[in-house]
Amino acid sequence: MSVGFHQRDCCPLCESTSNRILCEIPYQDQRLATFIEQFYQGRVPLEQLASANYRVVACANCEFIYQDPVLNEDAMQELYRNWIDNQLSLQKKQTAKSKLYRQYTAQVGTLSRIIDKRPDQIRVLDFGMGWGYWSRMAQAHGLNVVGYELSAQRVEHARKMGVTVIDDLAVVVDDFDFIYANQVFEHLSNPVQTMQALCQCLKPTGFIYIRVPDGRDVARDLAQRGWTQDLDAIHPLEHINCFTRKTLIELGARAGLKPFSPPLRLSWDGLWGGIRREIADRWFTTHVFFSRQE
Ligand SMILES: [Zn+2]
Repeated sequence: MSVGFHQRDCCPLCESTSNRILCEIPYQDQRLATFIEQFYQGRVPLEQLASANYRVVACANCEFIYQDPVLNEDAMQELYRNWIDNQLSLQKKQTAKSKLYRQYTAQVGTLSRIIDKRPDQIRVLDFGMGWGYWSRMAQAHGLNVVGYELSAQRVEHARKMGVTVIDDLAVVVDDFDFIYANQVFEHLSNPVQTMQALCQCLKPTGFIYIRVPDGRDVARDLAQRGWTQDLDAIHPLEHINCFTRKTLIELGARAGLKPFSPPLRLSWDGLWGGIRREIADRWFTTHVFFSRQE
């Protein structure tokens, strides 16, 4: 196993080789090293990062913000298997507040409204399902859901909770009515390739929901105050792709998808909050429903 870095040859979104540097800090830098040491509780061998810089660039062509270099394949495996605190990650889900479940319920409610089928006839893929809590919620609403996840530990946990997990998407063609990918695409080395692969699994009438951290203020914040550890959308090592709504929609376009606005869901109860949410969801946020139709 060789833990190291991998240079991205071009913009992961549009393949342009022209970019401008928004931030460049050696991993040895005291402030960055201390953050990594504390965040991963000493599990990251800092000497293996020492030769590289944490570098965030913006594509000169499509404005996509991304980290370059990124960890190589072996190091990525180490990161997600051993450097991240998996117990803490599970505990966060196990002790989540009711707000998270209300959010899941709203998402499942939306998908049930936009797909005009009986719940058991709706085939759903939870892509990068993590510990399986969203899948479980979708199951509770009667949906026919399967999960996909690289981490063996998470797969085992999800299976114990009764979630069906598949391990090969390459054999699945035109199968799913809905694909859900929450907080996945910011981590991927080849986001366009993955989006295209998901499209292969989607029925022609299906929908894909992508949710990623919101990077709309990142370039401005880096210019004004430099890197700070609260810039979650460019979290060192992990959030290697930083999307705005515009670049997220561009990601969909690269796979032949267009953004889709689910029907309005306003009610008199909490009308003002509902209007604000609808406006944000349609024009500003980095969570988007995609379909192949207009
Ligand atoms: Zn680009």
